[in-house]
Amino acid sequence: MMQSRPANSRLPAPRASAPVAKAAIPAPLPKPVVPAAPRELGWLPDCVFTGEKFESGVAFFADAQGRIARFSREEKDLAMARRLSGQAVLPGLVNAHSHAWHRVARGRAETRSRVANDPRAPWHEALARATERLTDEEIFDTARMVFLEMLAAGITCVGDFHELHRAAAASAEPNRVAQEILRAAHEVGIRISLFSVANANTGPARTQSGATDAFLRDTEALRLWMEKNFPADEAWLGLAINGLGAVSADELKTIAAYAHAQRMRLHVPVAEAAADVEAWTAAHQRTPVAWLAERGLVDKRFAAIGAAHLTDDEIKTLGTARAAVIACPTSARNLGLGLAPIEKLLASGATVALGSDAQVQIDLLEDARLLDYALRTSRGSRAALAPEVANMLFHAATVAGARALGATGGALEVGRPADFFTVNLFDLSIAGAEHGALLANVVFSLERRAIREVWIGGRQLVVNGRHLQQGPIVGRFVEAQRRLWAS
Ligand SMILES: [Zn+2]
Repeated sequence: MMQSRPANSRLPAPRASAPVAKAAIPAPLPKPVVPAAPRELGWLPDCVFTGEKFESGVAFFADAQGRIARFSREEKDLAMARRLSGQAVLPGLVNAHSHAWHRVARGRAETRSRVANDPRAPWHEALARATERLTDEEIFDTARMVFLEMLAAGITCVGDFHELHRAAAASAEPNRVAQEILRAAHEVGIRISLFSVANANTGPARTQSGATDAFLRDTEALRLWMEKNFPADEAWLGLAINGLGAVSADELKTIAAYAHAQRMRLHVPVAEAAADVEAWTAAHQRTPVAWLAERGLVDKRFAAIGAAHLTDDEIKTLGTARAAVIACPTSARNLGLGLAPIEKLLASGATVALGSDAQVQIDLLEDARLLDYALRTSRGSRAALAPEVANMLFHAATVAGARALGATGGALEVGRPADFFTVNLFDLSIAGAEHGALLANVVFSLERRAIREVWIGGRQLVVNGRHLQQGPIVGRFVEAQRRLWAS
């Protein structure tokens, strides 16, 4: 995908437009320069994960569009491919649920709440400060930083909740902040499914999504802008509702109808806290998933985020619909939330994917291993979710995430994008693992330091563990943090 652009290409900043009554669509960006007759790219690592297992003596090649064209064991192909000595190749990880801007609040809410009955007050206070102070450019700096950290952790595709709807200046183009986030993803080189989030109109002013018709009009304008400016597999739009109480039943119906018409993914945080589920069920005489299913929302494009407190009937409903559940274990343990009943969900046929959510830690392999550790802790034994537990957990971090986002990656197969990361087989955390034990070593023990190269669409973005633009991106974020937290 991005392979055809110059390495340091940068989208022009969105124009500072005059006040607009309707959602304005900025002029299209210049078309990328396509180099003449690009040659085929090939790689030969010590071993490559081809879906079920690692294989040696295999080179793989990408075409000019950055898609995997073929695998080969032919002598001449092995000689032609770029040798990745001492390294194993794995498909890029897919982070199915993220709030990029929450990165600013890392380490700012690790104190006991002074507000009675609200243990999460410090977290909400930190985010409220960010919504008041961050400029649009600082949101861009933050998004670039968080996407860079994802790339360095082997993540090549992210689903990001866009909920800072209003630009710092009230007169700015309605989709300005969304465009900043997309510009950040493009610069860093990560694929992004941006979720336009319908939010309650009671929280901080910048997070309010406004009247539903205006929200959908802006969303449609954003969809068209994205279609003009990005390849469909680099950046695409989804819809989200920030919890069941965020919008009325009628508004929900209108939003869901738009999502269905556009065949978009619809993501909704559901049943994250037990008290919320009890209150909802008492008020509506329906569990949250039953209530959503009655309105026709639960299908294969639906994802429940969190979903820690589900009844057996709700699990069955999600499984029968082949819907997704996105668990965010590192974030949940930081926020004091529970984990979804993964074993039952998998048995029911639901897709289980992973997300970094509040960005307290960006390590999708840690999220993966926590799924199984939660089960072991609750049973007090060395139980495992599946006989091939490492494969199952890695599937959640790759294939399942891609399915939950409608992404093209998730596996190294002919026709899919050449999105992958390499690990140093001599890193202290995994050294000595032969093929049969390598995936379990990666899933349960890999430290981020071992990730050496990251390629997306056949374009290298991380070299020797560092992103190509790491210095300036980190520098700009450090300055933004200094301003945000200065008293
Ligand atoms: Zn979230």
